[in-house]
Amino acid sequence: KVDNTKYKRILLKLSGEALMGKQNFGIDGDVVKFIAQEIKEIYDLGVQIGIVVGGGNIFRGVSESAKGMDRVSADYMGMLATVINSLALQNALETLGIPTRVQSAIEMRQVAEPFIRRRAIRHLEKGRVVIFGAGTGNPYFTTDTAATLRASEINADVVIKATKVDGVYDSDPMKNKNAVKFDTIKYIDVLTKGLKVMDSTAISMCMDNEIPIIVFDLFGKGNLKDIVLGRKVGTLVEG
Ligand code: UDP
Repeated sequence: KVDNTKYKRILLKLSGEALMGKQNFGIDGDVVKFIAQEIKEIYDLGVQIGIVVGGGNIFRGVSESAKGMDRVSADYMGMLATVINSLALQNALETLGIPTRVQSAIEMRQVAEPFIRRRAIRHLEKGRVVIFGAGTGNPYFTTDTAATLRASEINADVVIKATKVDGVYDSDPMKNKNAVKFDTIKYIDVLTKGLKVMDSTAISMCMDNEIPIIVFDLFGKGNLKDIVLGRKVGTLVEG
């Protein structure tokens, strides 16, 4: 293990959609394997890794409640979806020989440990990757908020938010080819410009707790490793 990483303890946020690859629903095994390999690269550097996975590839509460479903029930279904993704990721990491624990914000003892902060930190110190499932355990929140909450709780150095784009732009780069990418941007500008980095609850929580966020393209091989080594990748959101 080397000691030249910029970040010693990170919280990696993966959206559920990241796991579905080119499919329009569910989990693509090859994509999960790729993600696990990228995580192994930084695990091997000795970085302590907490992960929050979304559930949007399976179920998203807001969209379903828009179609008439009760919001709270829909949100619980969304949280359960994140547990399914957590188990998929756990399996892929363990296949690569990385010890992991899934901790769920909603108790389901047969499937995952309950979330216990001190225990999570202990796992990290012992070199286990901790995957936090079931979001915050509360409806009306998102897994972005769960990521910033868990990052604060485990004293992570940074929230690393994996996306399909290589950073934060002033407009949607998929729609506008003149969109300009930011190398760094302030939390408050993300909020006032309404940029789609994370929802505003998550951004303001990072702002209040001074946790930097790095937004990057997960599918660029080696990007994650470059980030923890302190190389310039993606967009840094900070004070
Ligand atoms: N969710 C929730 N509380 C949380 C985290 C998630 O109610 O603390 C629900 C919410 O319905 C959300 C769904 O779980 O739509 C899936 O999470 P999210 O949409 O954040 O996943 P992502 O967009 O990252 O795939």
